[in-house]
Amino acid sequence: MRSQSPIAAYRGMLLHFVSDPGEGDNGRAVQFFDDGMLVVEHGRVKAAGNAASLLPGLPKQSQVIDCAGSLIIPGFVDTHIHYPQTDVIASYGSQLLDWLERYTYPAEAGFTNAQQAQQMAEFFLDELLRNGTTTALVFATVHAHSVDVFLHSASKRNLRMIAGKVLMDRNCPEALREAPMQGYLASAALIEKWTGQGRLGYAITPRFAVTSSEAQLQLAGQLAREHPQVHIQSHMAESKEELARVRELFPSSRNYVDVYDRFGLLRERSVFAHCIHLDSDERRRMAHAGAAAAVCPTSNLFLGSGLFDFAAAREAGMRVGIGTDVGAGTSFHMLRTLSEAYKVAQLTGQRLSAWRALYLATLGGARALGLDDCIGNFEPGKEADFAVLRLDSTPLLARRVRACSSPAEKLFALIMLGDDRSVAATYVMGQPAYSCKLLSQRK
Ligand SMILES: [Zn+2]
Repeated sequence: MRSQSPIAAYRGMLLHFVSDPGEGDNGRAVQFFDDGMLVVEHGRVKAAGNAASLLPGLPKQSQVIDCAGSLIIPGFVDTHIHYPQTDVIASYGSQLLDWLERYTYPAEAGFTNAQQAQQMAEFFLDELLRNGTTTALVFATVHAHSVDVFLHSASKRNLRMIAGKVLMDRNCPEALREAPMQGYLASAALIEKWTGQGRLGYAITPRFAVTSSEAQLQLAGQLAREHPQVHIQSHMAESKEELARVRELFPSSRNYVDVYDRFGLLRERSVFAHCIHLDSDERRRMAHAGAAAAVCPTSNLFLGSGLFDFAAAREAGMRVGIGTDVGAGTSFHMLRTLSEAYKVAQLTGQRLSAWRALYLATLGGARALGLDDCIGNFEPGKEADFAVLRLDSTPLLARRVRACSSPAEKLFALIMLGDDRSVAATYVMGQPAYSCKLLSQRK
């Protein structure tokens, strides 16, 4: 029930970040309160900190919601995901280029049917909320209506979502191909229609260099120049087979980053999924342009694509966020994705602390998307999108957490053992958007 007072205070364990904690540094970057409080007014953060210091300042009629034993954390930011691929998650036996042919393209061809797209959008957004994710950068299909139904469904839930219509004009089935100018005009119309609509955003979306001709990338770059405020999303350097194809298709480009950069697609608010097989020159070029990598560990392990180099990206100064990359990714859940990110780091002889992992899934993701002025942490005035995570959602997690002596240990156990059952509730602009209790009452 909503209180009469516009102020609601959530009291429990509280975590957010004010900057990148790096490895092993839990100093000023990490704001952790064992008995913390998040104060929300009119959908925005009013204050966050120690409950003991905030309680005396609360107006008398404020509603205090008890989240004792649970973790209050900014809503997860998923920097790379495909909503039309929801139904091909967990499909057997393929690597990237074959995966696209066998699973992705047939699934996306089904989106000719707008009703199918609509049903998928609704399920997908509910699934994100069930997993504590409140913002995502989302691929639709080539069909303009796939963006319309998605953003309309997102706006009904008041979510901060960004989506774009896929651009492809070669090396894909006829039904999913269009002439470059047709893709340009359809994208321009969608930008016109959706930019500035509530919390929604548009992303110019060439699938990847293999499926776009030079003419199409040229027009995508033109769109980017004409609409500097919109996002750009694509894939880059995911598999070695893909790299070989790109070398064949763009013989005059020095490397993969150069392909996109030449057409003006490398800039702030451009986000490239994977970025595994890059050299140090390419990483520096991305960092210099302000472009971001969306790291997708469950997908990279599932398709056998390779291992992202967290340390090299950090050294180059690249912006980095985490993506689930459903349907090649194997979970909608950010904790499941972070646990695989930890293992990827291990396989490259590196470490990924619980602090840095959770930073990447929240403020890091918001920075990758250029949205850190409105989401990503609990600074006063930011939009109050947050999740409440239980640390006792399974007997094993509860038992492991009881044996932990420090917050970092507890949060690491949560990352390794937590899942969708850990999400007690998800809030969007201070309003409950998902609650596991509500769900069980409905049954
Ligand atoms: Zn992808």
